[in-house]
Amino acid sequence: MISPGVIEQREVSEPGKLKDNEILLRIKRIGVCGSDIHVFHGKHPATPYPVVQGHEYSAIVEATGNKVTKVKPGNRATARPQLVCGECGPCKRGQYNACQKLKVQGFQAPGVAQDLFVVPEDRIVLFPDSMTLEQGAMIEPAAVGAHSTNRVSGLKGKNVVVSGAGTVGNLVAQFAKARGAAKVLITDISDFRLNIAQQCGIEGTLNVKTTPFEEGIKSFFGNDGFQVGFEAAGVQTSLDVLMQFVEKGGEVVILGVYSQNPVVNMFYLGEHELNVFGSMMYRHEDYETAVEMIASGKIITAPLLTTSFPFNKYLEAYKFIEEQGEKSMKVMIEL
Ligand SMILES: [Zn+2]
Ligand SMILES: [Zn+2]
Repeated sequence: MISPGVIEQREVSEPGKLKDNEILLRIKRIGVCGSDIHVFHGKHPATPYPVVQGHEYSAIVEATGNKVTKVKPGNRATARPQLVCGECGPCKRGQYNACQKLKVQGFQAPGVAQDLFVVPEDRIVLFPDSMTLEQGAMIEPAAVGAHSTNRVSGLKGKNVVVSGAGTVGNLVAQFAKARGAAKVLITDISDFRLNIAQQCGIEGTLNVKTTPFEEGIKSFFGNDGFQVGFEAAGVQTSLDVLMQFVEKGGEVVILGVYSQNPVVNMFYLGEHELNVFGSMMYRHEDYETAVEMIASGKIITAPLLTTSFPFNKYLEAYKFIEEQGEKSMKVMIEL
């Protein structure tokens, strides 16, 4: 992407000789996500142009460096798109997903929208042949669900509300269920998205455009209320209702990207003694968990895929997403 909305495709030379720990991937599927669309519109706060996009993907291993042992040509793979320094405070304590110098491929470093891509062995994650390439490209957003649902003090027996039924919200809700939440309610303003949530086995859905949040909560949870909220919509009203109605002493996890900076109600934060905290991408073990959960069928991704476009129609994919609005979920690029 040369500038917002302008895509140029170029011939480049193949990557040179692999280092000992490197793996050459042939990219097969790339998922387009909300952050990519922010870049498309020139509204991503931290992406300079030109940029090679693409950070959620599946690939086939093409070749391996001399000292790579666990990966073989022909394996199905993906890799974390995080470049971290390894030296800062967060990195030293294992919180490298929040590295002080974090660069994400597809944003601050070249991404995978190219045929061949080199990754080091420590960031690669293999997935079984029983998983499709489309499922493989869903590992990245699924890892977001795996990480965020591990940030809370526990989900077993708790009631959960996920605000926002896009790809990430959907996967967070599925993970909350898989991790033992008692009841999970997902909210959105789109029946299309809520319907997909139901296809993924999330029994509780609430359209907050037609039913007020408080009323929907009462009828779904009764007097038990909810103890954990996940904010995956990135809008003020969604943050407001989670903080206002979560049980006192409850937890609210922030996953949304806010294009408009919200005002936070400090009364609820203080007087209700809430824990409100962020969740940033994922770590390696979250990728591994995502693979396990998708492979075992505990996390369902097929209903999330709206359509695919060939690589040379990348721009059309963005136009499709714009035209469809809330009627599209995950759009993929096929190479
Ligand atoms: Zn993404
Ligand atoms: Zn670091």
